[in-house]
Amino acid sequence: MITANRRRAQPPARNWQQLWREAVTDPLELLRLLGLQHRAAELLPGRDTGFALRVPRGFVARMRPGDPADPLLRQVLPLAAELEATPGYSIDAVGDLAARSAHGVLQKYAGRALLIATGSCAVNCRYCFRRHFPYAEETAAANHWREALAAVTADTSIDELILSGGDPLSLSNAKLVELGQALQSLPHVTRLRIHSRLPVVLPQRVDEGLTGWLAALPLQKVVVLHANHANEFDAEVDAACARLREAGCTLLNQAVLLRGVNDDADALAALSQRGFAAGVLPYYLHQLDRVLGAAHFEVDDTVAAALVEALRTRLPGYLVPRLVREIAGEKSKTPV
Ligand SMILES: *Cc1c(COP(=O)(O)O)cnc(C)c1O
Ligand code: SF4
Repeated sequence: MITANRRRAQPPARNWQQLWREAVTDPLELLRLLGLQHRAAELLPGRDTGFALRVPRGFVARMRPGDPADPLLRQVLPLAAELEATPGYSIDAVGDLAARSAHGVLQKYAGRALLIATGSCAVNCRYCFRRHFPYAEETAAANHWREALAAVTADTSIDELILSGGDPLSLSNAKLVELGQALQSLPHVTRLRIHSRLPVVLPQRVDEGLTGWLAALPLQKVVVLHANHANEFDAEVDAACARLREAGCTLLNQAVLLRGVNDDADALAALSQRGFAAGVLPYYLHQLDRVLGAAHFEVDDTVAAALVEALRTRLPGYLVPRLVREIAGEKSKTPV
């Protein structure tokens, strides 16, 4: 029994790196935490999917116990369906591998350069292209960002730098400070955008070092979060979002339309509304990249378009995300 006295003597709060390391990586343990261990034989794939389970415990705490259809669980639990080959689904769904340069810079759209800052993530999302490249090493942060930024220096048409990955906030604050310093030699870059799922899956990542760095950075700052369901938000996520806004960041959210997770108008409306309560505006709703192992998440284009139409009739315009798909060779994301 934990007595009232013992409860008062709280251990010191764990930092985000410790919480990262303590993530659940054993599917059986995850099922046990949710009271679903008796369903293991039926739920888990019979053989290795080649993409490990990984989910921070704080995210698991937001899942409904006893519900194998929980929308957060579905995003992270390996399923037998992943082992089925589906025509049209491949390892490199958006042709990025070809476009990726050794220094981790991707430049597909006017005015913006995207840096593959790092290959690591706190969570392994089953629908992600990363499932085939979990250890991608072509990282822009290597070698003090030098090669990556050299590629951006020469092109003065680039006014926005996008940090992506992997999850760029998996980098240490020291690495980010290094980037900030290097950006001083790039006066044509006026905006820094960070694409990160960490404020949602491990909100403790938004620590003082990070917000201090952001607040002092003499650029416009945009953080594009990634939440697919309203249940991903809790008080800790709200607090992390508030800290980011106080540090001067505009907060947007991109979601992926996923069958069995958020493919109904109620779920999508709740996501927009819950995000906005945390100060986050919806940005993109992505049609899935057709990566091998993710076909069971696909939502048909006509169904997707009807869902967004339904949102338009019930939400203010600013809470309706743009439904897009990424098509290799196009000059922007393509509206569906
Ligand atoms: C998605 C993407 C961007 C950002 O596009 P926006 O429409 O501005 O959000 C930039 N570069 C690359 C390579 C991308 O894939
Ligand atoms: S890159 Fe984003 S979607 Fe992919 S595994 Fe990492 S956090 Fe999930």
